[in-house]
Amino acid sequence: MATQQTFSIIKPDATRRNLTGAVNQKFEENGLRIVAQKRIQMTREQAEGFYAVHKERPFFGELVDFMISEPVVVQVLEGENAVLKNREIMGATNPEEADAGTIRKEFALSIGENSVHGSDSEENAAIEIAYFFNKDELVG
Ligand code: ATP
Ligand code: MG
Repeated sequence: MATQQTFSIIKPDATRRNLTGAVNQKFEENGLRIVAQKRIQMTREQAEGFYAVHKERPFFGELVDFMISEPVVVQVLEGENAVLKNREIMGATNPEEADAGTIRKEFALSIGENSVHGSDSEENAAIEIAYFFNKDELVG
C-alpha cells in the first residue's frame, strides 16, 4: 500500500477543550504525519457544502450548527494507508462503540460532538483536501 493523504478536522468540541495537541499526538504516535494544518472559523455555507451528502439526514441542521459553533482545525494527514489508518485511530462514529485507545473513545462527548472528522475514501479525501486547501499550502 502506497503513501496516501487523508483529510481531517478537529471539531469544535475538541478545540474548545484545548485538545488540539492531544488529538495530534494520536495521529503522530500512530505514524501519520501532519503535512498541512490551519485553524479556521467555518462559515455556514462552507459547512453546508462540506456535509452536502448528509443534507437529507435528520441531524443535518444540528451538525452544521455544531461545526460553525467554534473554530476547527483542518488538516492533511499523510502516511501508509492513511485513509483507513486514520479511521482506525479515530474510532467508531459513536464514542460508546469506539475501541479503547481511539480518539473518539478518549475524547468524544457524543455521536454528534465526536471530536474529529476523517475522509472515508481516497477519492473523498482528494475532494475534501481541495475544499479547504490550495495546492501551495501542501508542502509535504
Ligand atoms: P465523519 O464524517 O465526521 O468523519 P463518520 O464518517 O464517522 O464521521 P458520518 O456517518 O459520515 O460519520 O456522519 C458525519 C457526522 O455527522 C458524524 O461524525 C457526526 O458528527 C454526525 N452524526 C452522525 N450521525 C449522527 C446522529 N445520529 N446524531 C447526531 N449527529 C450525527
Ligand atoms: Mg463520514
